[in-house]
Formats: sequence, C-alpha cells, structure tokens
Amino acid sequence: MAEHNHSWSNAIFVDGQFRPPAAGGGTLAVHDKSSDEVLGVAGSAGIADVDAAVASSVIAQRAWAALPHSQRAAVLRRVAAALEHADGFRELIMRETGSIAGKADYEIASAVGELTEAASLASRPVGEVLQTGHEGRFSVSERVPVGLVGVITPWNFPLVLGMRVIAPALALGNAVLLKPSPETPVSGGLAIGELFERAGAPAGIFQVLPGGEEIGRRLVEHPDVAMIHFTGSTTVGREIARTAGSLLKKTSLELGGNNALIVLNDADIDQAAMIGAWSSFHYQGQTCISAGRHIVDRSVAEAYLRNLADRAAAITVGNPFRDGTGLGPIINNAQLKRAKGLLDEAVAGGARILTGGTSEGRFFRPTVVVDVHPAAALWTEEIFAPIAPVAVVDGADQAVALANDTRYGLVSSVVGTDVHRATEVARRLDCAMVHVNDATPQDEPLAPFGGTGHSGLGGRAGGDSNLEEFTERRWRTVTGSPVHYPY
Ligand code: NAD
Repeated sequence: MAEHNHSWSNAIFVDGQFRPPAAGGGTLAVHDKSSDEVLGVAGSAGIADVDAAVASSVIAQRAWAALPHSQRAAVLRRVAAALEHADGFRELIMRETGSIAGKADYEIASAVGELTEAASLASRPVGEVLQTGHEGRFSVSERVPVGLVGVITPWNFPLVLGMRVIAPALALGNAVLLKPSPETPVSGGLAIGELFERAGAPAGIFQVLPGGEEIGRRLVEHPDVAMIHFTGSTTVGREIARTAGSLLKKTSLELGGNNALIVLNDADIDQAAMIGAWSSFHYQGQTCISAGRHIVDRSVAEAYLRNLADRAAAITVGNPFRDGTGLGPIINNAQLKRAKGLLDEAVAGGARILTGGTSEGRFFRPTVVVDVHPAAALWTEEIFAPIAPVAVVDGADQAVALANDTRYGLVSSVVGTDVHRATEVARRLDCAMVHVNDATPQDEPLAPFGGTGHSGLGGRAGGDSNLEEFTERRWRTVTGSPVHYPY
C-alpha cells in the first residue's frame, strides 16, 4: 500500500465526495498494527463537519426514502459488487486491524452478504391492513424509516460491524452517518465511502466522519440524528444510553460479553478443545463473542486442558503476512497492558498458567490458565486478548449456574455428544445467542445477533429483526365517508 494518493488522504467522505475537513477538523494517522508503519493520513472530522453532514443527510434522506424500492436495492447491489472487486481491501483490513487473511476474507464475504440480504429487505411488505371497528375506515400499520441513523463502530471487525447496520438502514429508507473507531478510520469508514462513491450512490445518504469520542458524542447529542446504533464497550454504551435516554432518542447498543463455553462429561475432547481454542484465540480473542470462560466437567477436565494447551502452544504468532501465522498483534499498547494486568492479577490470586502468558511487543502468546479465583477480573470481565481461563465443575447443573453467574448476556456454547442433552443445557443459559457443538464466535446475515443485560440494549441485527430495528410503525387510517361527533 503506497503511503500517498489515497482518495482518503487528509479527507473525510461527505456529500458523496472526499473533502478536507472544515476548520476544527484534523488528521488521523493510519497504522499497520503489526509493523507500526504509517499507511497514510486520513481526515478527521470536526464538530462543524458533523453539523453540516447532519443537515445534508436530513435532506438527502427524504429523497432517498421516496425512491422506488428497486432503486435503493440496486445501489446496495452495486456497493456489494464494488466490494467484491475492490483491490486491496483484504490487505487494508489485515494491516489496519492486525489480522490474518482468513479474518479479512471473512469480513469481506460477510459484508457482501449483509449488502445482498439488505437489498432484498427493500422490497419487503411495508405493513399490514388492520381490522377496524369503524365503518368506512381503512386502517393500516405501515413501516416508515426512522430518519437519520448515527452509526458508531469499534475497531475489531470494522468493515462488517459497520455494514451490518449501514446496509439494512439504507435499504429501509434511512440515511446513515458513520463514525468509525480512530484505530480503523479507513477499513471501518473511508474505504466504505469509496465503495459508495464507486457505486454512484446519491450524495448525502451515507457519509463518513472519522474521529474520536467527541465526534461520537456530537452524533449522539445532535437533535436531528433520529437514532444511534452503537457497537462497542459496555462502559461507553452506558454513557450513550444515559445521553440518548435524556434526549428520548431511539438507541441500539451492541456491547461486550464474557461468554461461557461449557464442556459436558460426554464431549468429544478433540472437538471440544478445537472449539475452545477457536472461541478464545480467534483474532487474538478480540471479539465480543470470544469465550472468556471455559467451564469443563471434572471427568474430562484433564484431557481437555492438555488438548487445549497443546493447540495453543502450536499456534504461530507474528506478522499476519507471513505464511502459517495464526494470530497477529493486540491492537494497541493500552489493550496489551490491560490484558497483562488481568493475567497478572489472576496469577497473584492463585491462577496457574499452563501455556502462554508471554508476549513480544504486542504479539501475545495464546494462553491457557486454570484455578482463576471466581472474583478475579480475568473471570468476571471481558478479556479481549487470547487468554482461555478454564474452571472445573461437577455436573451440568453446576456448569449452568456458573455460566449464568454474570451480568453479561451475549453468547454461550455447549459441547456434548448427546445432542439432545446438550441442547437442554443450552436452553437453560441466560444469553441472547447459544450454540450447541460449535464455537462462540458466530454471525450470519439472517440470524438475530445481539445481547441482553450488560451485552446490549435495543433490538437485534440481522434478518427480519432489521425491519423492527430501522423502521418505526405508523398507524394510518383513511375514512372515505362523512364522520359524526357530538359537537
Ligand atoms: P469503545 O467503546 O472504546 O469504542 C467504540 C466506538 O465508540 C469508537 O468508535 C469510539 O471512538 C466511540 N466512542 C468512544 N467514546 C465515546 C463516547 N463517549 N460517545 C460516543 N462514542 C464514543 O470500543 P472499542 O475498544 O472500539 O471496541 C471493543 C469493544 O466493542 C469491546 O467491548 C467489544 O465487546 C465491543 N464489541 C461489541 C460487539 C457486539 O456486537 N456486541 C461487536 C464488536 C465489539
């Protein structure tokens, strides 16, 4: 990737074009997370840019919503085609997020899937004809767009976490202002703007405002942003909920998790350990749906730990561009320090590291740890690093009780050979998503993705849930004959 001549160099994406930010804006250096090389300098929006983008989006949204559905769908299909043929998007994701090729390919394929599914949402029925007790009245419940949707995204899966909101919101007649994470202003934002530019999307329906928390705050506070869709940490989500609540603004929050993986006494150990390794180590454990707690039946614990530790020890950690690399770097030094701190505190409290626990620069070895005190933050908090804490329990009831002992409610997995029994255990888990005999990181465009408790507030992303998420219900009656009232 050359350092110069990007369309996004010193620019933000507003009104269908790449332009320098207004006074008050600035720049953001774009880094390769493995080598620290500077890949370029993106524009960073200022408050004036947010206000101008809101004003033009509000106008653009009305015209966009009034277009025939087929035209909105066609724009989304052209964006999907632009993404499929985009040169260098894979490399960009690999560099900007520090991920291996497989994760970048997954993001691209998944984002194309989100766009294709969203295109079909545009032609779905927009409401129902209702029964009415009033003679001569025609009564319908119709779906109307929410209006302008502010989308705030994290750095870990910047392309797909943006697209799974942008695509359905646009399909249903909304306009979108996207604020990507400052760690990933390009793959999470400006490169998506390029796709819309290439697809000839109408100006103003989708704009990208890279920047930090002050830009996110302005989006949340702006009275003409009708809805905020936030994906990120529980701490920031709580602040957004407070502000949006006081403004009575529609909000959808996709937050963190501390997800349990239960291994039952009849589990196939090789399968269970493979599922466990993928659940905790995939993309350095930096996903909201990583397993942060392995809960294993005592009868199989020793074999499970041995197998999991062997798998962890065999993973190559290093530059994702090198063949055979399984894990890249932790995203930044603050996250690395936090992960080390969680591990150190757990070890000081009696935990034992079976493998890993070391790092070279930001390259952190996949780690398996046992005997973690149940009150240690490594057990109670989201980890966001390739660390698999394992607890040993006696029987399924204890496993369920321990798995449910958290305020988070994102995802869990249950592994067992008796599928009926494993399914019954899965149904007792208090979370929004649960998988039997597969890893915790799962996402599909048609499935309802989301969390309960500290993992989320609002609706679900995916499939028909998007109809609820990105439209409001309007009750409309039409009366064709004179009405009579007492006065
Ligand atoms: P973060 O909460 O620090 O930041 C997320 C986004 O919010 C960024 O764009 C950031 O600039 C912005 N932001 C920060 N403070 C803000 C404020 N006060 N007002 C408005 N915007 C603000 O999260 P992160 O470190 O980028 O991402 C990791 C977190 O995201 C993890 O906790 C992870 O679990 C969560 N996550 C959740 C899901 C999900 O679908 N549930 C998916 C991926 C990541």
